[in-house]
Amino acid sequence: MKELPALASVLDRFEPSKISEISSLTSRLQEEGRDIIHLGIGEPDFETPENAVEAGVAAIRSGQTKYTPVDGTTAMKQAIREKFLRDNELDYPVEQIIAASGAKPLLAHAIQAVLDPGDEVIIPTPCWVSHPGMVRLYGGEAVFVACPEEKGFKLQPEDLQRAITAKTKLVIMNSPGNPTGATYDEAELKALTDVLLEHPRIWILADDIYEHIVFDGLRFVTPAQVEPRLYERTLTVNGISKGYAMTGWRIGFAGGPKRLINAMRKVMSQSTGNPSSISQIAAIEALTGPQAFLKERAASFKRRRDFIVPAINQTPHLKCAPPEGSFFLYVNCEGVLGRSAPDGRRIESSTDFARYLLEEAGVAVVPGVAFELDPYVRLSYAVSMAELEEAARRLRRACSELR
Ligand code: PLP
Repeated sequence: MKELPALASVLDRFEPSKISEISSLTSRLQEEGRDIIHLGIGEPDFETPENAVEAGVAAIRSGQTKYTPVDGTTAMKQAIREKFLRDNELDYPVEQIIAASGAKPLLAHAIQAVLDPGDEVIIPTPCWVSHPGMVRLYGGEAVFVACPEEKGFKLQPEDLQRAITAKTKLVIMNSPGNPTGATYDEAELKALTDVLLEHPRIWILADDIYEHIVFDGLRFVTPAQVEPRLYERTLTVNGISKGYAMTGWRIGFAGGPKRLINAMRKVMSQSTGNPSSISQIAAIEALTGPQAFLKERAASFKRRRDFIVPAINQTPHLKCAPPEGSFFLYVNCEGVLGRSAPDGRRIESSTDFARYLLEEAGVAVVPGVAFELDPYVRLSYAVSMAELEEAARRLRRACSELR
């Protein structure tokens, strides 16, 4: 056989994405013209705020279409600085701020900047698929700490303490969380930062991307804010994707200690380069313009949550508790396992259940196996109320047909 050039061996540490099977089936059914209600999507259904659109268009028209400094313009960093002061009581001078093409690349740069091969990274589960993916990509070991439903899918201080070893380099926190919506209040977060205070070798990565989507009067807090003594080893990551519904503009940002920010800038300068000049201008407008709509949008998500949670709980074999943030529900589907569909096939896993819902009910959800705590399915309620009502009807019908 002809010899071929090899691929990087690090890729052997990955399994193919556990959600790709369901995603490709969804696309195929849609192409065939099937009416699918997509509850698998991880982005808000709102539009970019009009003032940000205008700023972006004006940036193009006025020729602000060239390279910028790798980590963002000074104006961008000033806007981020003001945001951290205004919303999070965090004082990051501009040298301690970095902007990139989304929170996702920033998380990757941070992980790459701190990990040596074999270093352990504590990840509370269920977790966003990319957190362990990035850790593995950069040679680290993902150490999963299960956060069961009975504990609100939240990391418990004693479990965190137990997971820490001499090899622990980093802990990843994500509140409000994907896929569960679990959101830590100040006391819960303080109990965790108290544990971390005792371990000065550990970096803390706070993924705050769902900051503005919190409900029931809960006040969003972030680790470096509740425990200022962790400021020197915490990276606070955020962006405009979710709160401002600007996923396609690709702007994320972070504040952190100078050492880490400098290391990330070094990684960035030799890999991704600067985020889009046009998007930076739109992001500055979004971050410094009127902010009142953020609360209105959170209230709209809350109305949808308040509809869908009871609807799920009235569906045979399914249950979920109302999450405090984000726009995801992590629905317990243990009750469907071992049951049979009308065509005789048995549902043995969350993936089987997701496939059944897709094929029989035309509702796309993501199986929990992707998020490292099963048997659950993740459902996004960032769709119209009419679609949610129809999805609830279809779920009820499909689940009542299981024997
Ligand atoms: N962090 C979490 C937990 C997410 O769910 C997502 C997107 O789904 C991101 C980060 C990525 O954000 P961005 O669009 O800014 O790259």
